[in-house]
Amino acid sequence: MRKSDIKCAARLAIDCVVGDVCVLCQLPLPPHQWHDPLRLNSHMCPYCRTAVALNPNSCQHCALPLPDGQHICGRCITTPLADRALAPVLHQHCGAYLVHQLKFHRGEREALALASFLLTAVHQRYPNTNALPDLLIPVPIAPWTQLRRGYNPSEWLARTLHKQLNVAVANDLLTRKVGPSQRTLTRHQRLRLATNTFTLKRKVAPRVLDFRHVAIIDDVLTTGATVAVLAGTLRRAGAVRVDVWCATRA
Ligand SMILES: [Zn+2]
Ligand SMILES: [Zn+2]
Repeated sequence: MRKSDIKCAARLAIDCVVGDVCVLCQLPLPPHQWHDPLRLNSHMCPYCRTAVALNPNSCQHCALPLPDGQHICGRCITTPLADRALAPVLHQHCGAYLVHQLKFHRGEREALALASFLLTAVHQRYPNTNALPDLLIPVPIAPWTQLRRGYNPSEWLARTLHKQLNVAVANDLLTRKVGPSQRTLTRHQRLRLATNTFTLKRKVAPRVLDFRHVAIIDDVLTTGATVAVLAGTLRRAGAVRVDVWCATRA
């Protein structure tokens, strides 16, 4: 059993004995009480929810934080990253901690906390269910990483969003080419290495993405290099509109 599995099991056992606790301050949460208007148990107390740094005014195509009154960043005027981008939380302090727990410590409760912020943003930015995408596409991770980690954090976010929004999750369309970890690379290196990182699986039915409106789901949006490559792959496969929904923006 992995160390992270043991930690996860221990946390669930503690939840059973002492009740649910807030993912940030670890203080007990009142039983059977939902802590946000979406009626999704985000495992976060109201105080910590207000302490999370949000990204309220950002570029509509890449979610880069912008000064009040601006809606598109300089880069997206010429090359927009996506048709619409959401990243409701800034990747600092609490937001970065939640993503770290989700990514490296099997943070299922942190996934719910992050998804609750994304859901609030989706309800604000998509006026009705007809405007929602047809498919949610979690960013695939390399097969070796999937094997080592045992799960894809982006897929956990997508599954939570699916339960609330009733939009299908397509997690078996693409393969990610094995490459070096991007965490230590510069933006230029990422852009150079990210070329041709994703390919459609051979077994995928032809035209499955034709004229589709899709949303790429990821935990953190950093340089946008990965999303740009994935969006290009999806467009070449027939998607007419590609949005990106990331929990946090670095
Ligand atoms: Zn708290
Ligand atoms: Zn932008």
